[in-house]
Amino acid sequence: MYYLDPHIHMVSRTTDDYETLAKMGCVAMSEPAFWAGYDRGSVDGFRDYFEQLTSFEPRRAADFNIQHFTWLCINAKEAENVSLSRDVIAMIPEFLGRPGVLGIGEIGLNKNTRNEATVFLEHLDLAMKTNEQILIHTPHLEDKFQGTRMILDMLTDDRRIDRSRVLVDHVEEHTIRHVLDQGFWAGMTLYPVSKCTPARAVDMIETVGPERLLVNSAGDWGPSKPTAVPDLILEMRRRGHSEAAIRRVVYDNPVKFFSQSRGFNFTPPE
Ligand SMILES: [Zn+2]
Repeated sequence: MYYLDPHIHMVSRTTDDYETLAKMGCVAMSEPAFWAGYDRGSVDGFRDYFEQLTSFEPRRAADFNIQHFTWLCINAKEAENVSLSRDVIAMIPEFLGRPGVLGIGEIGLNKNTRNEATVFLEHLDLAMKTNEQILIHTPHLEDKFQGTRMILDMLTDDRRIDRSRVLVDHVEEHTIRHVLDQGFWAGMTLYPVSKCTPARAVDMIETVGPERLLVNSAGDWGPSKPTAVPDLILEMRRRGHSEAAIRRVVYDNPVKFFSQSRGFNFTPPE
């Protein structure tokens, strides 16, 4: 089955991973800007990273007939440095018109600090002024519930925001309804060590329905599995879901969400 991975960090993955994903039916992916594992020292570090995301990774993916899209921001971990964050936010528009750029992301919170919230709000303002879509990272484990609530409050306080153009990612059982009930899209991340397993993700799909729901691997430089979306496809088949129901979650939904971005110049497979 053809599918899209709406959240994967291919800069951290090998060319073999691209080949494996292509063989498993991945036809497109979107790569949010994230933390490199170390704090970058200057705005030029981010400029180089955005260059990699918008020029080299799409070429690497294209070698395997995968279409690569991206999101730009300074991530929540580095948002503690507010002055650097402001320099990066001011530089982002240099890249917003490039093909394949879907919007601002993954912004969000990490430890739910005041500085993170400040930088989150300034990213929202940039997205509103440039009419971009938004992809949001919610914090891990014990910080997730509080952080998700803070994020939803900041989003709903801004009347300019079109909720159907915002994806709140890494939802779990205790946050998914809060996100969907307020009209946002929700992303479930399938991780081997934290976040959610394919079985839990399918439980959530069965509980809340497939509307405005996405599934991703968030494959990166840590313990993660880039082929996690095919694992979910198998789990849905095992439980007797129809091919159309599976396709809705792994293909139709991401295409529908991304199609709201100017940069989504997607060519469906034959
Ligand atoms: Zn990520």
